[in-house]
Amino acid sequence: MNKTVNGKTKIYGLIGNPVEHTLSPFIHNSLAEALNINMVYVPFHVTSGNLKASIQGAKALGVQGLNVTVPYKVEVMSELDTIHKLAKQAGAVNTIVVTSEGMSGYNTDIEGLKQCLINNQISLRKGHIVLIGAGGAAKAAAILCASQEASRISIINRSYEESYLLKEQVKKYYTLPIDILNYDEISKLEEIDIAIQCTPLGMYPKIDHSPIQEDTFYKKCHYAVDLIYNPAQTKFLHQAQVNGCYSVNGLEMLFYQAVKAFELWHHQRVDKIVSDEILQELKHTIYQ
Ligand code: NAP
Repeated sequence: MNKTVNGKTKIYGLIGNPVEHTLSPFIHNSLAEALNINMVYVPFHVTSGNLKASIQGAKALGVQGLNVTVPYKVEVMSELDTIHKLAKQAGAVNTIVVTSEGMSGYNTDIEGLKQCLINNQISLRKGHIVLIGAGGAAKAAAILCASQEASRISIINRSYEESYLLKEQVKKYYTLPIDILNYDEISKLEEIDIAIQCTPLGMYPKIDHSPIQEDTFYKKCHYAVDLIYNPAQTKFLHQAQVNGCYSVNGLEMLFYQAVKAFELWHHQRVDKIVSDEILQELKHTIYQ
């Protein structure tokens, strides 16, 4: 029995499908323990067709805040009262803050990736950024790149339609040039400052997959970022590293999106000493 839960314990959680392998409870409950906040964070498996009911149920039960994961990051927006600027631009919400005025949607994936890049001293400003993939995570990455004044974005994706939708989404708010390429056209790319891998290719257990095989691609890149964090080094990052790129995986993005959500919910900054300690624990737990 968890003896720290009592009548004043606040409830936070994650809605998605599936949620069984989430690391968010580890991060949030560790932050709460370190900062002595009386709360629990739990996963809520929301099956297809039950999103609206889950949001209404959360409101009725006084749940204080929610994270939202696949497949509900877009659909959930219509259930909320207000949407923060960057979440609106990305067309996706991953964090819901509950206040007396209603439910507000934020996209802390964007903030998480931003913090991950800052920690690795990678600047997007004036850079040519190549996004591989055009789904939800690529949208968050694209809005971050545009908002941080990247000079150009090139999107490489299997489906042209998804790339086009991503381009149009960014173009609604920003003016930087955006190119669309398919995988057969990557030799057309010139110097790449940062390549951000936003597909699930290479994720455990299919670790021998990578969206790009050609060494010539990696030789043009300075930095390679893979949003996948399991395994720690994907095939994409391995290829990048052997071809001389500085490479970063997606664990810090995941971690800092959680920290940013925590800060929104609890109206306080998480001290760097506390977050560094929990990040180390997280790395130890999953990579040991
Ligand atoms: P998504 O919306 O489903 O988009 C997936 C993208 O991958 C699409 O562009 C899709 O291309 C492409 N793709 C899928 N299978 C492919 C294949 N076999 N060959 C080529 N392209 C393929 O997913 P998402 O939410 O963007 O997530 C993408 C990845 O980012 C996942 O691995 C996820 O775990 C990771 N992620 C990490 C974080 C973090 O905090 N580190 C946060 C969010 C997401 P089409 O358009 O052609 O279908």
